[in-house]
Amino acid sequence: MEEKIRNIAFLWLKEQIQIYGEVLPRKILEKGFEYRNQRVTLVGPSGIWKPKVFETMPISITSTYEGPYEDKFTDDGLLIYRYRGMDPNHRDNIGLLEAMKSRTPLIYFHGIMRGRYLPVWPVFVMQNSPEELFCMVAVDPIFAFGVNAEGYFRTEIKESSLSVRKYVMAYTKQRLHQSSFREKVIFAYDNRCSLCALGHRELLDAAHIIPDADEGGEPIIQNGLSLCKIHHAAFDVNIIGISPDYLVSVREDILLEHDGPMLRYGLQELEKQKLLLPRKKENWPDKERLDMRFHNFQMAG
Ligand SMILES: [Zn+2]
Repeated sequence: MEEKIRNIAFLWLKEQIQIYGEVLPRKILEKGFEYRNQRVTLVGPSGIWKPKVFETMPISITSTYEGPYEDKFTDDGLLIYRYRGMDPNHRDNIGLLEAMKSRTPLIYFHGIMRGRYLPVWPVFVMQNSPEELFCMVAVDPIFAFGVNAEGYFRTEIKESSLSVRKYVMAYTKQRLHQSSFREKVIFAYDNRCSLCALGHRELLDAAHIIPDADEGGEPIIQNGLSLCKIHHAAFDVNIIGISPDYLVSVREDILLEHDGPMLRYGLQELEKQKLLLPRKKENWPDKERLDMRFHNFQMAG
């Protein structure tokens, strides 16, 4: 039955991501779902979490944003996950060991911010180091790109080659960084678009002022802007520019156009408006980066 519940948990997570986006709020995971009148929680007070319906093995492992458990990645593409406390024989740690022996897939929740987690699944415990109080976890490529409606098949599990594993872990790390950038930027702007003040997280993006492939394009709050989908797209194609004084400019030909309310309220009326800035001044967009970007906008216009 545990295997069945794990499959349902994977599919349930997929659904939650469709509703809430890639990063999930803790309260959703604490509540979990119901299976045959029993509640299956996905996280709890312990980082190695075993819901009541499970016997010994956990369903998930969690790293907290500023908790005592610092997680790291090895060069071989493995995640180092610290044990609970100092006793390798604590039942939570034993549960991890059992998951390794039986090659049971788990969920890894990466803490991005207080109370917000990026789920990665399925992951497998590959190696155990009881003396050093940690284990090593891999994202298995066989399952990394989705589980079908019937769930996963235990018989398909096999060791993946080092290069494939490295590739998958690099991809996972990139996802973690991108999600973290998005969360931090949108949070700094109080979950609003900095141009139109739209306050629906699902419709917000963290836009880069300097693209991440360019020099100066680091994923830091000062290189980000919280923008709704339409304003993100308009900013990216230089329909909208933002000056280093935080004033909005709209491309000239767009200002001369005549059309419906989306054009009028959504774009034209932004001309000469002031950008809505984060409450904390240290999070305001970097003027130097805005200047570089605004130069591009002026050249494009
Ligand atoms: Zn907007």
